[in-house]
Amino acid sequence: MRKRRVPLRKCVACHEMQSKRELIRVVRSPEGDIAIDLAGKKPGRGAYLCGKAACFRLAKKSRAFERALKATVQPEIYDRLEQDFIQMEDQFIAQKAASGDEDE
Ligand SMILES: [Zn+2]
Repeated sequence: MRKRRVPLRKCVACHEMQSKRELIRVVRSPEGDIAIDLAGKKPGRGAYLCGKAACFRLAKKSRAFERALKATVQPEIYDRLEQDFIQMEDQFIAQKAASGDEDE
């Protein structure tokens, strides 16, 4: 019963639907830790963002993560996520380029 279609998820910041592989997952673990989950495999409630720092900043400003994760996100966590996110974004872009999947 596996479908070949890539599942779509909505970016919490710009609300665009995109395939999961185009998005970065932020997850709230059952213990309440909030972290970036690049592999998309951590357990917990997830929120998705485009692979763009701009969307991260928008999500921060609009508190989209708090709504999506139904949790209070402390400013320190945003700071940590932002640092991680910028690193991840570079990695993410590098990964995409390496897979020959450029569409821009
Ligand atoms: Zn977005």
